[in-house]
Amino acid sequence: MNFWLLLENSLVNLRETEMDKGGKMKNRLSRRDFLRTGMCLSAASFLTSGKSLSSREMKSSKRLVIASGNGLRATEKAMELLKKGEDPLDAVIAGVNIVEEDPEDMSVGYGGLPNEEGVVELDASVMHGPTHNGGAVASLRNIKTPSQVAKLVMERTDHALLVGEGALKFAKAHGFKEENLLTDKARKKWLRWKETLSAKDYWFPLQKDEVEPELQSVLTYHGTINCLAIDEKSDLAGVTTTSGFDYKIPGRVGDSPIIGAGLYVDNEVGAAGSTGRGEANILNCGSFTVVEFMRRGNSPEEACLQTLKRIASKSKLQTHLLNKDGLPRFNLKFYAINKKGEYGAASMWSDGKFVVHDGQENKSIEIAYLFKNGEERKQN
Ligand code: ASP
Repeated sequence: MNFWLLLENSLVNLRETEMDKGGKMKNRLSRRDFLRTGMCLSAASFLTSGKSLSSREMKSSKRLVIASGNGLRATEKAMELLKKGEDPLDAVIAGVNIVEEDPEDMSVGYGGLPNEEGVVELDASVMHGPTHNGGAVASLRNIKTPSQVAKLVMERTDHALLVGEGALKFAKAHGFKEENLLTDKARKKWLRWKETLSAKDYWFPLQKDEVEPELQSVLTYHGTINCLAIDEKSDLAGVTTTSGFDYKIPGRVGDSPIIGAGLYVDNEVGAAGSTGRGEANILNCGSFTVVEFMRRGNSPEEACLQTLKRIASKSKLQTHLLNKDGLPRFNLKFYAINKKGEYGAASMWSDGKFVVHDGQENKSIEIAYLFKNGEERKQN
């Protein structure tokens, strides 16, 4: 960090921490602030006169946003807001709102694939590092942006998680409009799934040539968006939002709204979030575990891999989750940022990318993995 940036940060911090009696931010410097700033200046000149700061220390003042592979627009938006000085939680929520509201993303928010009865049910959680506070909603129907409702649970209640009917009433009380979240495309996919369910029900499957090519596959499809950020003060925040498993049993809640599983933020250590098989994650407190591995000194990528290793080993106790080689049949991914602004992600199976915006460039990066084609990754 250069001298002037350090000075600017110290002035910004002083301004931001001063409150007037009504709880409003004061935007002026008192004499005491000035003296404190002077002390910062001396400290800064001492630091800059000695050996230069290491690259790791430089990273600590660096803004960064990461997200799951579907988060390119989210990281772009979140970084734009971080640069304007917005709170990191507001920044990541505004980022994922783009995906929640996009009918083309069938794994999140509006346009998400429905439960087995054809109803879209959404899960989301948020966590704010500086206040160590969080909020979540699960099985929420008819509201496009569950991440915003989750933030209101955090801010406006003494609770951490609202579900179903209660979550919907809460959202409506705060002015959210009820809307049908089932798009035509999602409805047709759900219908196709029902028609191909089994030979023992009363649904006639359509002939192959009657089905639009994009609906021919009835493979289950799921996804989520996780987005994490660190701002220039090294404050962390995160959000995870999803429509969960397609055709799930109504009321099924995945990992995304479970603090500690789909998302966890410890402002002293780092932030982590996940996408993939929620059940395996819930049973192993995945995101919490990633943060704990970072606390022990593992890099974000290594912390994600260690957590996946543990989950893979615990899954051996559930034989229905194993493939013919005795390895997990499911995928699960973790994304992480530490307090220094270092980041990483890893996947149970080699598959896909994640997204990083470092303030200069917004890019997709190949994700590290534990297994590939049935083999365990060679650790170095
Ligand atoms: N984690 C989500 C859930 O279990 C699904 C996914 O990310 O694919 O609901």
